[in-house]
Amino acid sequence: MNTVEQKEALIKACRRLAEHDFVAATDGNVSARLADGRVLVTPSGKNKADVVADELIVVGMDGGLLEGVGKPSTEFAMHSFIYGARDDVKAVVHAHPPFATAFAAARIPLDGLVFPEVIVSLGKIPLADYATPSTPEVVASLEPYVRKYDAVLLANHGVVTYGGSLEEAYNKMEKVEHTAKITFLLRQLGGARELTREEVERLASASEISYGRKVDISGLFS
Ligand code: 13P
Ligand code: ZN
Repeated sequence: MNTVEQKEALIKACRRLAEHDFVAATDGNVSARLADGRVLVTPSGKNKADVVADELIVVGMDGGLLEGVGKPSTEFAMHSFIYGARDDVKAVVHAHPPFATAFAAARIPLDGLVFPEVIVSLGKIPLADYATPSTPEVVASLEPYVRKYDAVLLANHGVVTYGGSLEEAYNKMEKVEHTAKITFLLRQLGGARELTREEVERLASASEISYGRKVDISGLFS
């Protein structure tokens, strides 16, 4: 994807966040790594329903402004930390979706082995310690999780997801919120019945045969 296409994909992710109510007012931020190593990021303090391609900002990994006007997202250090820790990550999405953020504020991780597609795509969704938004505390809070997980609840704040493309990173955000919503409903019904170790092992081999995707289940039972 060239830079123009990346900008279009980033705006599409912003629109989807707003349409799904995963953000309110100026919440959230989205970024994508460009082919030359620079990073495209949303400006700070903009409603994601309104942001347009010309307002996107290009920064270096150190957050220094390279192209565009205005201020890059105040959470850019979190994005940059994730790119630095994970070569495979090309896009990062941060939002405050209501159900997942409620779990994050109740300090409840979404780590039950309940939904086969969630186990295959995300494994567990851990909860990072509380960190003051926009400060280096956020980076420190992600340190234990960034290499092993692609979606993390940020205590009392929201969610961050990341992946090999903007579409992938956005889809993970949608998956996290859907998981949180169903988990909330399950709690009204008395809780979920988790998959057994044997069921998860069968799932992992089915995933490899059906989708060619290897799932590392070694950490799921520790
Ligand atoms: P920015 O508008 O600076 O990106 O901040 C939004 C946000 O969600 C902070 O955590
Ligand atoms: Zn936020």
